[in-house]
Formats: sequence, C-alpha cells, structure tokens
Amino acid sequence: MPRMDEKVETIYHDVVSRNPGETEFHQATREVLESLGPVLVKHPEFTGHKIIERICEPERQIIFRVPWRDDKGEVQINRGFRVEFNSALGPYKGGLRFHPSVYLGIVKFLGFEQIFKNALTGLPIGGGKGGSDFDPKGKSNDDIMSFCQSFMNELYRHIGQYTDVPAGDIGVGGREIGFMFGQYKRITNRWESGVLTGKGLDWGGSLVRTEATGYGAVFFVEEMLKARKDTFEGKICSVSGSGNVAIYTIEKIHQLGGKVVTCSDSNGYIYDEKGIDLQLMQQLKEVERRRIKDYVQYRKHAKYVAKGNIWEVPCQVAMPSATQNEINGSDAAKLVKNGCIAVGEGANMPTTPEGVKIFLEAQIAYGPGKAANAGGVATSALEMQQNAQRDSWTFEHTEKRLQEIMKNIHELCYETAIEYGTPGNYVNGANIAGFIRVAKAMVALGVV
Ligand code: GLU
Repeated sequence: MPRMDEKVETIYHDVVSRNPGETEFHQATREVLESLGPVLVKHPEFTGHKIIERICEPERQIIFRVPWRDDKGEVQINRGFRVEFNSALGPYKGGLRFHPSVYLGIVKFLGFEQIFKNALTGLPIGGGKGGSDFDPKGKSNDDIMSFCQSFMNELYRHIGQYTDVPAGDIGVGGREIGFMFGQYKRITNRWESGVLTGKGLDWGGSLVRTEATGYGAVFFVEEMLKARKDTFEGKICSVSGSGNVAIYTIEKIHQLGGKVVTCSDSNGYIYDEKGIDLQLMQQLKEVERRRIKDYVQYRKHAKYVAKGNIWEVPCQVAMPSATQNEINGSDAAKLVKNGCIAVGEGANMPTTPEGVKIFLEAQIAYGPGKAANAGGVATSALEMQQNAQRDSWTFEHTEKRLQEIMKNIHELCYETAIEYGTPGNYVNGANIAGFIRVAKAMVALGVV
C-alpha cells in the first residue's frame, strides 16, 4: 500500500470504523484518499471546511423493502438501495445495479466513485448510486416487470429531474429502465423524461447512450496511447465481460484497427484468435439472452474456457469490463509480463489495490475506471440536456460530443498528474482533478 498523508490517514480510519463491514467502500475511499495529501497542502481551505470528511459521508442513504410476486404466484422479498452521495455539482446521478452481490458496501463504493467520475466529465451532475440484491439471471420478463414496478413504488418519492436521476448498471438495461419509467409515470402522472437516463430511443432516450461507456473507454485508451505516440492499429486486445460495456468496447476497438480476442461471463471466457465476431455475440447476448459458451457452436475454431482466468491470455491492451476486483495482483503481474502496455477500465474498480500498484510500478498506461468509463454517465448527462431542450441529436453529433468529453478528461488527468509531481499516473490525476472540482463547489455552497 502507498503511504497516506497523516491527516488523511486519520480520516480514513474514521471512515472504516463508521462503516463496518463495507469492504468495497473502504477500498474505494482509500484509493481516493491516498492521492489527496498534496492537495491539502496546496488548498489548506479544504482542511478547514472538513471537505474530505464531508465527502466520505453520503448526504442521504435510503434502504427499502421490495416485495413482489413472481410468475408462479409466490411472494418474493428483496432489498432496495439508493445512496444520494453528493449534490454539490448537480442532481445526484448514477446507475442502479441489480445483482445478488449488492449490499450497502457495494452501493456506497459505486456512489463514492461516481462523485469524482461525474465531476471529471465537467457536466452538472452530482454522485449517487442504487440497486438491489435481486438476481435477474434466468428470470422471466413478467418477473422483471413485477420487480421493477415494486422497486419504483418506493424509489419514485426520492427521485426527479432536479433531485436524483438514476440509470442502468449491471443487470439494468433498456428493458428495466422502460418498466421503471412506466411505473414512475403512472404513480406521479408526469411524463418527466429527465428523471431516468438510458431510455429507449422512441421515448426520450439518446442515441449513443447504449454504446457510450464502451466507446468512451476506448477513446480514453486511444488518448493514453496517443500520449505515448502509439495507436490501437494492429493491437491484440483482451476484453472481459459480455454486457453492454464489453460489447461496445469490442466494436470500437475493431473500428480503430485493434483485434479483441476474448470476452467472458461469470461462467467462463471465450478465446477467438481471429477476433471476436461481434454480430454473433450481440445476437446471443442482446437478442437471445444466452450464455457466451454457445458462441463456440457457431465459431468452431474458437475456444470456451470454463472457470478459466481470462488474464492469462497474452494481450497488449486489456479492458476489464465485467465487475469490481476482477484483476488481482497476480493477474496484473501476468498481464505486464505478457507484454500488456495499456489498461482501460470499463468496469468500476475492476483492479484490486495490489493490481493497481503493479500497473503503476510497471509504468504502463493505466486508465482507472472513474476516468476511463466516464463516457457512460457523460452521455446520460447529454441525454438530460436533450430532454430539457425537447430535442434529439444525431448519432454523429452525440458521438462527437462524447469523444470530446473523453479527450478533455484525459487531458485534465494527464495535466493534473504532472502538476502534482507524478507524471503518467492517471490514478492521481483522476482522483485529484475530480476531488478539486467537487471540493471547490462545496466550499462555495457553505456547510450544507
Ligand atoms: N452505471 C454507469 C456508471 O457506472 C452509468 C451511470 C449513469 O449513466 O447515470 O457510471
């Protein structure tokens, strides 16, 4: 572990003891706080205003029962969460995650990261996150609708276009956003498009939102490569996951001349040395909602490795796009040894602290999630802009805006890392630049 500034260390210990058992939240705060010592030296006013202490405490945390009836008529109970973390820069903004692993510690780590990620976009959005321990895997469409409606029956009173604007995350895509939007409209009798993002294109959604997290992460890596006078052209790339982020990461890498040879789900991974056939993958995952092992039925030369370790596959660029802590220290060491020169995180916090240390020491181009995957939420903010204007932009225009935003985030992180004496360290760059934006607004808004 890198050494933490003494003042900051005390705050971190306080966070741990005030939030027992929330290991992912501890990990996420530690990662940001480790970067902040030098910021307090340059900005002593942040200490006086107790900005770090305040930023680590969510403004509001909502936990609620989600009772629903499944398609066999049986009553089911899940737990729902919305953590409204920080609204200094705009309404709370962040996704909803439906996954059995969800508990308060996961929602808080995601909400905490979201504050800084959203600040990096330069758009007027605060940070929040929510979700449920509901497991959508294998559920019928009716089950999904019943659950989403019940979830919204409580959530609706906490959200609104000027208050809190949820979106998707793992387990929540266009279908779920549709069911939740329908229920919100029914309860409130308001067609309030700006209350949720990731909506369908016929009812207030934005072009490029579906592609945005993946495309944005690739644009970020493209910028990191450019800073090293390199490009994606001819690069062998490894992508994990097979959801929305992974699929559009693969698409954009292929457009830029790289070759993605892997993807995965929670059961195993695919290795396709000729490059992942994206159309086939989209048909299996997005249309038929099948598991990726079926890919090899159609691409005979490809290999499916059940329960294998995807990071053993040699690659030059790795883009973890599945979930938190999917790359540990030994995976990171393997990647570096096998010639990996760039890592761009499409998922949130996919690398453990040990892994991050290895990437930084090896001085490869390492783009942490809160910078690299900010394109998704940035395009959500563009969706909010279009909703407010009752307008819809073209694909080309929206993609261009996304690319500019990713370029700006890269430049901001790159320059901030230099300013604080750690050139090339995008972890420090992202943490410091994101923090300063929020901290300045918090100082201006007073003790609230
Ligand atoms: N869940 C996404 C993220 O991790 C997107 C959130 C949003 O669009 O509000 O940033």
